Amino acid sequence: MQPISPFPLKPFNTFGLNANARMGLILSDETTLDSLRQSPWWSDSLPRLLIGEGSNILFTTDFDGLVIVNRLKGISVQETDDAWLLHVAAGENWHQLIAWTLQNQMPGMENLALIPGTVGAAPVQNIGAYGVEFCQFCDYVDTWHFADGHRARYSAEQCRFGYRDSLFKHELHDQVIITAVGFRIPKQWQPVVEYGPLKALGSTASADQIFHTICELRQSKLPDPAMLGNAGSFFKNPVVSSALAMELKRHYPAMPCFTAGSEQNKLAAGWLIDQAGLKGFSLGAAGVHRDQALVLVNLGNATANEILSLAKHVASTVRQKFAVQLEPEVRFIGLSGEINSLQAIQ
Ligand SMILES: Cc1cc2nc3c(=O)[nH]c(=O)nc-3n(C[C@H](O)[C@H](O)[C@H](O)COP(=O)(O)OP(=O)(O)OC[C@H]3O[C@@H](n4cnc5c(N)ncnc54)[C@H](O)[C@@H]3O)c2cc1C
Repeated sequence: MQPISPFPLKPFNTFGLNANARMGLILSDETTLDSLRQSPWWSDSLPRLLIGEGSNILFTTDFDGLVIVNRLKGISVQETDDAWLLHVAAGENWHQLIAWTLQNQMPGMENLALIPGTVGAAPVQNIGAYGVEFCQFCDYVDTWHFADGHRARYSAEQCRFGYRDSLFKHELHDQVIITAVGFRIPKQWQPVVEYGPLKALGSTASADQIFHTICELRQSKLPDPAMLGNAGSFFKNPVVSSALAMELKRHYPAMPCFTAGSEQNKLAAGWLIDQAGLKGFSLGAAGVHRDQALVLVNLGNATANEILSLAKHVASTVRQKFAVQLEPEVRFIGLSGEINSLQAIQ
C-alpha cells in the first residue's frame, strides 16, 4: 500500500486548519495492516497518528510523519437473554451507530447521540454527554500494535476508563490502532433523564424521545463544524479541591459545582469562561463562541497560532479570576506527535 505524500490534513480536522502530514493512508481494509510493517517506506521511528474524523484534534503545525485515517466499516450483532452484543468496526460513524441501534430496537446509548467522530475514537477519551459515558456500554476494545503487528483484545476493565480518560491516553498512547469495539447493551432499559434539560421529559420518556431531544438541544447549542470550524468543548471541566470550590461558591453562589470523589469538586469550564467575560471574544480569526463559551471556533482561515493564543488568553484570564487551571480536552498535535496541551497554553 502506497501512502499519499504530502497528505493534506484540512479535510481531516473539524477545526478546518491548514496543515500537511509527510504521508497519509486511508485504512478501509483491516488485512492491509498485515503487510504495513513490511512496506518499503515503513520505519519504526516514523511518527504516526491515527485520525477518525479529526473532531478532537488541533494541529499546531505540520505533522512530519504518517497519518492513518480509519475507515474500517462493519457491524455484527449477537443476542443473549439479557443483552445485545455488538461488534463494530472502528471507522463507523458514532452518531450513525446510535441511530442504527435505536432503529433496531436496542435502546441504551441514546444520550450519546450526535457526538461527532468515529467508534474507534470513543474509547480513547471515554466520550460522554447528558449523564452517560461510553464505558457503560463497552465490552471490549480490539487493537493492532505498531511495535510487532500483533492483535489484542482489552476488556472494559483493562481499558481503565475515567473522565475523558483511558489506557489509550497512557500506556497504549501511539502504540495501537483501535480496529473494533465490542458493546454490551442490556435489554433491561431505563431512561437517563436526570441531566438538566432532559428532566422535563420525565421518567416515562422513550429512548426515541430522548434521542430527538438531545439532537435538537445539541443542534441549537453547538456550532456545526461544517459551518464553523471547532472541536467541541475545548477545555475539560476542571476538578478542584472542595476547599477551593467552597471558597468560590461563597463569592459566586450561582456557580455550578458537582461532587467528584472525596474532597474534590467538578466545576463547569464554560461557566467560568463566560463569567470571565470572554463569550464572543476573538483574537484574529480565532474566537470564543458567542453562545457556548466552552467552544473555541475558527471564524475563517484561522491559523493554529491564533487558536493557541486564544486558548492561552482564556486559560490565563480564568486563572487570574478564579485561581482555577483549565486543561484542554482537545488533543494537540505537533511536528512529530502529540504535545503536552497544558504546557502549550501556559
Ligand atoms: C461539535 C462537537 C461536539 C462534541 N461533543 C462532545 C461530547 O459531548 N462529548 C465528548 O466526549 N466529546 C465531544 N466532542 C469531541 C469528539 O467528538 C470526540 O472526542 C470523538 O470521540 C472524536 O472522534 P474522532 O473520530 O473525530 O477522533 P479524532 O479527533 O480523529 O481523534 C481523537 C484522538 O483519538 C485518537 N484515535 C482516533 N481514532 C483512533 C483509533 N482507531 N485508534 C487509536 N487512536 C485513535 C487520535 O489519534 C486522537 O488522539 C465533540 C466534538 C465536536 C466537534
